[in-house]
Order: sequence, then C-alpha cells, then structure tokens
Amino acid sequence: MRRISIFGATGSVGMSTLDLIRREPDAYAVVALTANSDVDGLAAVARETGAEMAVIGDPDRYQALKAALAGSGIEAAAGDDALVAAAGAGADWTMASIVGCAGLRPTMAALKAGGTVALANKESLVSAGALMMDAARASGATLLPVDSEHNAIFQCLAGSRLEDVARIILTASGGPFRTRSRAEMADITPAQAVAHPNWSMGAKISVDSATMMNKGLELIEAAYLFPVGLERIEILVHPQSVIHSMVEYRDRSTLAQLGSPDMRIPIAHALAWPERIATPCQPLDLARIGRLDFEAPDAERFPALRLARHVAQEGGAAPAILNAANEVAVAAFLAGRIGFLDIAMIVEDVLNRYSAPTPGAIDDVLVADAAARRQAGQVMERMTA
Ligand code: NAD
Ligand code: MG
Repeated sequence: MRRISIFGATGSVGMSTLDLIRREPDAYAVVALTANSDVDGLAAVARETGAEMAVIGDPDRYQALKAALAGSGIEAAAGDDALVAAAGAGADWTMASIVGCAGLRPTMAALKAGGTVALANKESLVSAGALMMDAARASGATLLPVDSEHNAIFQCLAGSRLEDVARIILTASGGPFRTRSRAEMADITPAQAVAHPNWSMGAKISVDSATMMNKGLELIEAAYLFPVGLERIEILVHPQSVIHSMVEYRDRSTLAQLGSPDMRIPIAHALAWPERIATPCQPLDLARIGRLDFEAPDAERFPALRLARHVAQEGGAAPAILNAANEVAVAAFLAGRIGFLDIAMIVEDVLNRYSAPTPGAIDDVLVADAAARRQAGQVMERMTA
C-alpha cells in the first residue's frame, strides 16, 4: 500500500493522478490533497479517496472547507504554512502539481522529507533548480519528472551514464500558433491561446505553450534534471506530439519515447516506477497517424525561446526572475489586460531592469520572485498608461 499526497489535486495533472488512483483503490492510501480555492472540488475528492487531510491554500476558506468536510473525519487546514506542513505528513509518494512558483515551498518540503516526489510543477524547478536538486541529494528523495518531455528523457536514459549522452532532443508541439507570423499573433485572444491542438491542460501552461515559453521553461528544467550541459540540449518542433523527447548517445544511437498525448501515461510511469501499471490511455496507432513531422524552432517568432536559453546560461536568480515575470504577464493576458505579444516583451523588459544575487536559500528565491513580480507590474503600468 503506497501512501500518497497530491498537491494541486483539483488541477489538470492532479485530476489525472486521481483518475489513475481511483482505478486501484486498494493500492493507495491518500494522505493529503490540496487546492488553492476550490473548496467543494477539494472536499469531494478528499471524501471520495478517504484522504487523511485536505488543505486549501486560501486561508480565508478554512471555515468553508471545515464545513464541507464535517462528519468525514478528514482533517481540514488552510494557508501556505499548512501546505508546507502537509508535505511532511508522511506520504511516501507525492505529486507536486501546483501551478507556478506557489508550489515551491511545498515541493521543497516534500523533497526534504525524503520519499518520492513526482514533479509536474516545473516553475518551482526553474526558480530554484540548484537548491531543489541539492535538497533531493541531501535527503535521499527520488525526484521523478512528470512533464511528458522530461519523463520521456528519463525513460530514454534508463541505466545510462550522462557522460555517454551526445544530445537531449526536447520535442515541442509548437503550440496553436506554430505557423503564424508575428503580425498574425498580435490579436490572439485568451480563448484561442488556451485551445492547445494536442493536450488538454490548465490555462497557464496552455498560454505558455502558445508563446513557447513552456518549452523555454522545459529547457531550464531539463538542464537541472539532466546536467549534460546546456549546449547539448536542443529543441525540435514536432507538431503531432507523439515523440515526447529523445536522447542521442555518443555512438549516435538515438532513443525516443512515444505515446498518445495523455498525461496519465507519464504520471503512471512515475506512480509505478520502477515497475509499470496498466492505464486506460489510447494505444498509439501509428498507421492512423501516418506521418511524424519535424522542424527547427523559430526564436524570431517565439522570443520566449531566446529569453529562456539566455537565462539558463546566466543561471543564478535569472531563471526565477524570468519565471515570475512570465507568471504575472500570463495572468494579465488571461485577464484581458495585455496582448499576446506583450507577454515576452514584459519578460524581456523585467530581465533587463532587474537582477538579483544567486540564491543561497529558498527565501532568497522568493525575494527575487516577489521583486520581479513588482517589476512586471510596473512595466505593465507604463505600457497601459
Ligand atoms: P491547473 O491550473 O489545472 O491546476 C493547478 C493546481 O494548483 C490546482 O489544483 C490549483 O488549486 C492549485 N494552485 C494554483 N495556485 C495555487 C496557489 N497559489 N497555492 C496553492 N495551490 C495552487 O494546472 P495544471 O495544468 O494541472 O498544471 C500544474 C503544473 O503541472 C504546472 O506547473 C504545469 O506547468 C505542470 N504541467 C502540466 C501539464 C498538463 O498537462 N496540465 C503537463 C506538464 C506539466
Ligand atoms: Mg511538457
């Protein structure tokens, strides 16, 4: 019986994780489930799975959560510190699927507690990669990548030495605007941006896929998870999202991992690792798909790719600053306050205006994150003034 917790249980990745667990209820005991504001959604899955505790991020919703769990025996808690405490509540497998840097402290706490951490929350690794990898080494935690590309790379690397890797080839769908010119991107609406051609995901990552900032964040994520040197990590556009990434070895043998674009496949891999479990996912029908296409990424039309590679080279606090500015800009775009092309412009502006020393601890990351958010807010005020 595996004791599991899910951070961000009401989100896209969280619900996919719950879907797998639901199919084998006797194999898992649920320790903690968390959400940001959806009290009813959280209470429903906590009751259904018989979780030991449910934690809501918004402290003002504590009473509502308590009321929704009345009579269930499930412990209710609320607020950031409760999220961190829940990460140390005795799970041996934790899904880190909060969106954004908001997931950093709970993910870090789960890593410090040891056990296995299945990582979907790429923004935490982008912001604090060195500190998170150090924490995992120190506690002996196992960090399993859930992002489909990184899970694919992990599978392609199985048992091999990083010294033997010639290249990591990170595939990208190119998003819904892969073939559009810059001029044609100017009027893109939030509804168009969140409609991804291959994957069904939360709003923030869907916008990141449309700007290709998602691939930029994944480049940084890959550099921390698989330290082969940034120059060995390449991005390749592959519109069908069938090959989830590849590893080329120095003998020029290349391994790829393929599958239907369904996050339950990488989640199941992390859930069962080092074994395998059955999933309800569609088998890959290559005869029906017919062909797989590839093209080079275009950093002119998608400046987020250039910005992300730049901050990855710079290291220190730069990735945290890029991530924070991007979170603010994406939220403003989704709220209809800025245009699609403004997102990368704001990120670049913040990177030009603000830098911070290399973080020595998580608090330093959070200081840089907060300052970059303020800068992004000021850049937007000037833009719309
Ligand atoms: P989502 O928006 O669907 O869900 C986010 C979850 O985080 C929700 O449960 C929400 O309640 C919680 N949350 C949001 N803000 C919070 C806060 N301030 N404090 C506490 N909890 C908060 O997002 P998603 O698509 O499931 O993505 C989750 C993470 O997984 C992201 O980092 C994303 O980049 C990564 N990821 C997602 C997919 C996917 O297919 N959806 C694929 C790869 C990686
Ligand atoms: Mg991905």
